[in-house]
Amino acid sequence: MIHKSIYVTEPAMPPLEEFIPYLQKIWETKILTNGGPFHQQLEAALCTYLMVKHISLFANATIALVTALQTLRITGEVITTPYSFVATAHSLLWNGIKPVFVDICPKTLNIDPSKIESAITPQTTAIMPVHCYGHPCDVEAIQKIADIYNLKVIYDAAHAFGVHGESGSVLGHGDLSVLSFHATKVFNTFEGGAIVCPDAKIKQRIDNLKNFGIVSEVRVVAPGINGKMSEINAAFGMLQLNGIEAALRKRMAIDTIYREQLSGVPGIRCLQSAGEKVANYSYFPILVGPEYPLKRDGLYDKLAQNGIHARRYFYPLITEFPMYRSLPSAAHSNLPVAIKAANEVLCLPIYPDLLMAELEKIINIIKE
Ligand SMILES: *Cc1c(COP(=O)(O)O)cnc(C)c1O
Repeated sequence: MIHKSIYVTEPAMPPLEEFIPYLQKIWETKILTNGGPFHQQLEAALCTYLMVKHISLFANATIALVTALQTLRITGEVITTPYSFVATAHSLLWNGIKPVFVDICPKTLNIDPSKIESAITPQTTAIMPVHCYGHPCDVEAIQKIADIYNLKVIYDAAHAFGVHGESGSVLGHGDLSVLSFHATKVFNTFEGGAIVCPDAKIKQRIDNLKNFGIVSEVRVVAPGINGKMSEINAAFGMLQLNGIEAALRKRMAIDTIYREQLSGVPGIRCLQSAGEKVANYSYFPILVGPEYPLKRDGLYDKLAQNGIHARRYFYPLITEFPMYRSLPSAAHSNLPVAIKAANEVLCLPIYPDLLMAELEKIINIIKE
C-alpha cells in the first residue's frame, strides 16, 4: 500500500552533500549576485547543453517575459494563446500591451497558426506563442506570418527546456525564447528563468535591462528592472545540470509506460508529441473524453481521494480570469478548441523519483 501523497511533479533533488562544495565557493568568494562566477558558468554551460548562442539568466521566467517584451520594445497588441499559465498574458499587461487571444490546434494544444492572420490589426506588433507541455509550436508557419506582417515572435518556452526539433533546438526559433527554472519545471534552480537570444547585441540589452538599465557606475540608459539570478540559484543550476540526462531518461520511461497502459482505455487520449526529435517529457497530459465513465473532474476527484494530486493544466483558461474575460478575443465563440481542451485535460504525475508501484496505482485507478 502507498500512503504518501503523490503530486503532479516533484523536483529532482541531488544529495545535499553534493551541494556543499558549491556553497563553500560562494562563502569563500563572498560574491552573492550581480553576475558572479556561478552566473557566468551556468550561462556558458546552458548555451552548450541547449545548443543555443546566447542565454541571459533571470530570477524567474515571468520577469524574463516582461523584460523580453521591453527588449524588443513591443507595444500595442500581441497575439497569444489562452491555453497557458497565466504569467504568459500577465507579462503583456505589465507592459501595457493588449493581449489578443486566438484558438489552439486540437492535436497539439498549441496556438493555431491558421487563426493568427485574422487577429492581426494595425496595432499588432508581436506574437507570443507557448510550446505547451514542451511540444514545439508550428514554428515555421508562425515565422512565415511574422515575416509577412513584420511582427516579432517571443516564445514562452517555459516548458521546452532541452527540446529539439528537426532543425535543432526549439529555442532557436523566433526573436527570443523564455525558459522557466521554477521548482516545478524539468530543470530547476528553485526559482529562475532565462532569455535565449541569437544575437550578442540583444543579449547586452537584456543584461542591461535585468540590472536596472545600468551600463556603468555613472550611466543608466533604460528604466530596467532587477531580474538577476543570484549565485545560490546559479550554483544549484550547475549541480542540477549534472543529473539532467538521467532525470530525462526516467521521465521518458514513465511516459512510455503511461502510453502503453492507457492506450486502450476508452475515452482516454494521450496527447501525442508534435514531432520533436528530442522531447523532455515535462508533463503527461491526457484528455478525458465522453466515452470515459467519469468526466475529467470526476477522475480528478477520484485520484485525489486516493492521494494522487493530478493537475488541470490549463483550466481555467487565461481568458476566464477577470482581467482578461471582457476582451473581445476572450469570447467563448472565439476559442472553442481551447475551451474543450481545458474541460478535458488532466496532467498526470511525472517526475524522476516517481516509483513504479505509484505509477501502477495511478494507472489502475484510471483503468478501474
Ligand atoms: C511556469 C511558467 C511560467 C512562469 O515561470 P516562473 O519561472 O514561475 O515565473 C510562464 N509560462 C509558462 C507556460 C509556465 O508554465
